[in-house]
Amino acid sequence: MSTNNTNSVCPICGKDRIIAKTYKERIGNSVVQTTLTICPDPKCQAKLNVQLEKEKVIRDGMKLAAERRLLEQKQRRSSGFRKTSRIV
Ligand SMILES: [Zn+2]
Repeated sequence: MSTNNTNSVCPICGKDRIIAKTYKERIGNSVVQTTLTICPDPKCQAKLNVQLEKEKVIRDGMKLAAERRLLEQKQRRSSGFRKTSRIV
């Protein structure tokens, strides 16, 4: 058993992926450790990078569309918003 076991295999060649780097990210009040794994085969990893890049473009596009939808919803909601005030 390798101590470098990442519990993930490469989707292209099926080899055990290796840890490229780990880094800690601060999200709100908690620190999240992210582990970046790569394929031990550089040629294979290059193919994966191309694939990831394509997915990223699609994801970014979806994110933008979702943000636009959210903005439209907010605008619609605020236009029908009735202000109520109460003396306390
Ligand atoms: Zn691979």
